[in-house]
Amino acid sequence: MKIVYLDNNATTRVDPEVFEEMRPYFCELYGNPSSMHTFGGQVARKLDEARGRLAALLGADETEIVFTSCGTESDSTAIRGTLEAYPEKRHIVTSRVEHPAVLSLCRHLVKQGYEVTELGVDRQGMIDLDELREVVTDRTAIVSLMWANNETGTIFPIEEAARIVKERGAVLHTDAVQVVGKLPINLADSAIDMLALSGHKLHAPKGIGALFVRRGTRVRPFLLGGHQERGRRAGTENTPSIIGLGKAAELAAEHMEEEQTRVQRLRDRLERALLETVPRTRLNGHPTERLPNTANISFEFVEGEAILLMLSDLGICASSGSACTSGSLQPSHVLRAMGVPFTAAHGSIRFSLSRFNTAEEIDFTIAKVPAVIERLREISPFWKRRDDPALATVDYSVGLDNT
Ligand code: PLP
Repeated sequence: MKIVYLDNNATTRVDPEVFEEMRPYFCELYGNPSSMHTFGGQVARKLDEARGRLAALLGADETEIVFTSCGTESDSTAIRGTLEAYPEKRHIVTSRVEHPAVLSLCRHLVKQGYEVTELGVDRQGMIDLDELREVVTDRTAIVSLMWANNETGTIFPIEEAARIVKERGAVLHTDAVQVVGKLPINLADSAIDMLALSGHKLHAPKGIGALFVRRGTRVRPFLLGGHQERGRRAGTENTPSIIGLGKAAELAAEHMEEEQTRVQRLRDRLERALLETVPRTRLNGHPTERLPNTANISFEFVEGEAILLMLSDLGICASSGSACTSGSLQPSHVLRAMGVPFTAAHGSIRFSLSRFNTAEEIDFTIAKVPAVIERLREISPFWKRRDDPALATVDYSVGLDNT
């Protein structure tokens, strides 16, 4: 069965060119880049090249790039490392729609005595910068706001947020895991202090990430040990993956325009067709301030998991906004924070594209989804009661504090 992969915000295919770039660094050029011999030295030079390639994609300086094991580690390093560097400041600001890499950590830090302010979002998933202005004080150590949301694609006005935070003397960290490779970034001309990214979202392998740390930013290392990464992240470097991430960054720059033209057009076509042909559907996320590859659509009165399973049987891979996979029957914390009604949040599906998707795949998906929804609605007790006003008032805010 042919796979139509529309789950690229979960992870992406490793670009074959990335894989080829990595290949020699497993069995042939396996030296340790910290070794004195030239065998290791040639790997060190290749790491420098990868650092330069990633820095170029971000508009950063090579010395501002710290390689990590993933986006989660980058987020943790930024937040914990800042708190350690400013022990007198015990306040953190974040948003209610962050990825668990940030939100779970912040909620854990509350238990350790930190004060955390979670900014709410409006119905399109957008934060309010006036609220940010009000909550950041001289006691705030760090503000951690994602650049774009992984579930809805909504893009926060991160540069404006960064300027507000800087004026108040706090550190601005952004989880840009979903942005790097999809939108142009120029950190040379930016107030952002730290930025987290993850290789597997931009066609590099899983298990490699990076943290941009602006020169002069105070942040304590998360992993202590050897002197790798200029003492900012100990541990022998994951050389093949770093080299792969460097290549992926170079390719991302080459394909950036395609993300905003061809990929976005495919996304728009899919989105429009589903919203027009399937009754009782809604788009979750900002209509314009949104990643070019992401469409989150609610099919009211059906279970997202059921939709996913039926799509999976057809070879179509998408993702549900529901947290059922984590053992909870609550719909996604992001959609709940946006006030998406219960009956819509449960049936939300995220389609996320990449440059590897084709028009034929989108046509196939457009042809298959309506029948899947129709079949599920035939057996849905909620669909039969779709005009019952009682359904609209179901209280699903219970457990809002659990991601
Ligand atoms: N932040 C966002 C917005 C993400 O989408 C993800 C992954 O889904 C992460 C952080 C975590 O990245 P990683 O899987 O590399 O730890």
